[in-house]
Amino acid sequence: MNVRRVSSANVRQSKVIGGIAIAFVLAAPATVWAVNREFLPGIQWQQPPVITPGESDGPPSDAIVLFDGTDMSAWENAENWTVADGVVTEGRGDVRTKQSFGDCQLHIEWSSPLPARGRGQGRGNSGIFFHDRYEIQVLDSYDNETYFEGQAGAIYKQMPPLVNAMRPPGEWNVYDVIWTSPKFNDDGSLASPAYVTALHNGVLILNHFELRGDTFWPTVPSYQAHGPGPIRLQDHGNPVRFRNIWVREFKPLTSERVHEPKFHDHDTGREWLVSEGETPPEESSESPAAESPTAAAQAAPAETDSIEQATRSTRSRRPWRPVRRWLGR
Ligand code: MG
Repeated sequence: MNVRRVSSANVRQSKVIGGIAIAFVLAAPATVWAVNREFLPGIQWQQPPVITPGESDGPPSDAIVLFDGTDMSAWENAENWTVADGVVTEGRGDVRTKQSFGDCQLHIEWSSPLPARGRGQGRGNSGIFFHDRYEIQVLDSYDNETYFEGQAGAIYKQMPPLVNAMRPPGEWNVYDVIWTSPKFNDDGSLASPAYVTALHNGVLILNHFELRGDTFWPTVPSYQAHGPGPIRLQDHGNPVRFRNIWVREFKPLTSERVHEPKFHDHDTGREWLVSEGETPPEESSESPAAESPTAAAQAAPAETDSIEQATRSTRSRRPWRPVRRWLGR
């Protein structure tokens, strides 16, 4: 009997909770929909450049091709590596790009020697160095034990890859690396460290990893001030093959603030600053953003007009208002 009473109480309690939940679900959207309000961040962005993507893993239109299967003229010391059948094979001495790079996206395909010879760091070793000093490891890490921060995809001696996505010797691996160069102050001190994000065969292996400095075998990682530098491929004495190498430099988009963040109410036409709250201030305390159009135009930079006009032009093509409310737009 006692169990039965508890059970009934639970049922009543569940009904009450359920009722509250349903009421909340019904009321919450109504609260949102009652305000036909848009957030305007007030930042004018540079138009992102238009580029043509590459076919498959090919270079996009804004890429610099470093090796297309036949031409290694973008590299120094290329005469000591072997180009044949669309690939270049690791030879005597490292190769460095003649051009220097800073922040960039690198695509490079590589294949470990078949049959596999050696073990650990002695098997299929090469490496890709940014600025001639920060290495993402190239190694035959297919069923080959070594220290984790030295296996394929590692930032050498600093960070192992998140997973081992290695293909067997003889097959082709793909690295897509997003490299953010370290930045230095005028006095040579570090302003911002290097970061790297990388995919190995389409799989994330490094996620915005912050480098502690350079990656030389005998020294503690450290930063020495430098500017853009070459990309280097390592000769470690193993005939690793490479193909389809391209790089894209990238820069942050530029922007400028054209007005403070504000809200625009599409029902009333009122605008008010975000700093004034979630709802429009009382009519008696008009905000600068809610002043007359003439006053607002005088107070705002010239760019504001074009932004607002563009925004309103876009709004004129907006869906029917009940549909917008349903979409939350
Ligand atoms: Mg190496």
